[in-house]
Amino acid sequence: MSHQPKIAFIGLGNMGAPMALNLLKADYQLTVFDLSASALKTLTDAGAKAASDAQAAVQSANIVISMLPASRHVESLYLGDTGILPHIADGALIIDCSTIAPQSAQKVAQAAAARGLAMIDAPVSGGTAGAAAGTLSFIVGGSAANLERARPLLAAMGKNIFHAGDNGAGQTAKICNNMLLGILMAGTAEALALGVANGLDPKVLSDIMSKSSGRNWALELYNPYPGVMDNVPASRGYTGGFGTDLMLKDLGLATGAALGSNASIPLGEAVRNLYAIHSKAGAGGLDFSSILNLLKPAA
Ligand code: NAD
Repeated sequence: MSHQPKIAFIGLGNMGAPMALNLLKADYQLTVFDLSASALKTLTDAGAKAASDAQAAVQSANIVISMLPASRHVESLYLGDTGILPHIADGALIIDCSTIAPQSAQKVAQAAAARGLAMIDAPVSGGTAGAAAGTLSFIVGGSAANLERARPLLAAMGKNIFHAGDNGAGQTAKICNNMLLGILMAGTAEALALGVANGLDPKVLSDIMSKSSGRNWALELYNPYPGVMDNVPASRGYTGGFGTDLMLKDLGLATGAALGSNASIPLGEAVRNLYAIHSKAGAGGLDFSSILNLLKPAA
């Protein structure tokens, strides 16, 4: 038997597709939309109904979930002349899982509220492996009541659900996390490249640091050196993970948050510049762990 809420899921990329698949597995009814036909096919093959556009997707939905790249995609999906807000049924709940600027999240939430719709920002942490395994962390901004409405759905896609504060606070917490992740990834790649340049085996060095004081998530669960770990982007040509350009976007969001608050983020800024150089060199579409290629000595 299907659960009652009808869900519209928009944005079926590296993260959205496995998240939507987990909702199907939990027996929810899904209508899906993505600009990419191949992304849509992954979901229709698994039993979701495809809509011809975003407006059609949300027409009879009680819950709308979006998982898009950046602020501009989220704002243009919901707002403006062609935005979907006017097409969503009264009383529906919107859950935006994209990582975007806190100000964008607040702007869309205010426009939604003016239309009688509830909204939370619920960016995620855990990567594509966490999305596939249904073990994501959701970092929620919005009212406690709206979080409770969303909780069963979030629980079908993730393991940890955090309430960071009001609308936009989920994004702020996520931005802080990803700035630290960028710093940890670049630092891990730098240490591994240094060891290998000095004759160490990257797997042996990874084992040593994983049991020593340099241990961290990038080293232990998302190792950037090819061949050290199975099932990570580094071991499949840096594909199918978290794109360099998405990390660059998140580091830019950290810069924006720092400028707005007079905070100092010297390491975050250094890493943002590294990722900008890496992207400009043509690696924007590769997984963010490919920053190793920028740091390791030429062969
Ligand atoms: P992605 O680029 O793989 O997927 C984005 C999808 O959105 C694409 O399929 C694209 O066709 C679709 N899309 C874009 N505009 C659209 C529109 N107007 N209507 C419908 N579909 C549209 O990105 P991703 O890796 O899935 O990341 C999505 C979000 O999640 C980003 O904000 C990212 O920062 C965040 N995130 C990603 C990861 C990760 O490991 N990949 C982890 C945590 C958070």
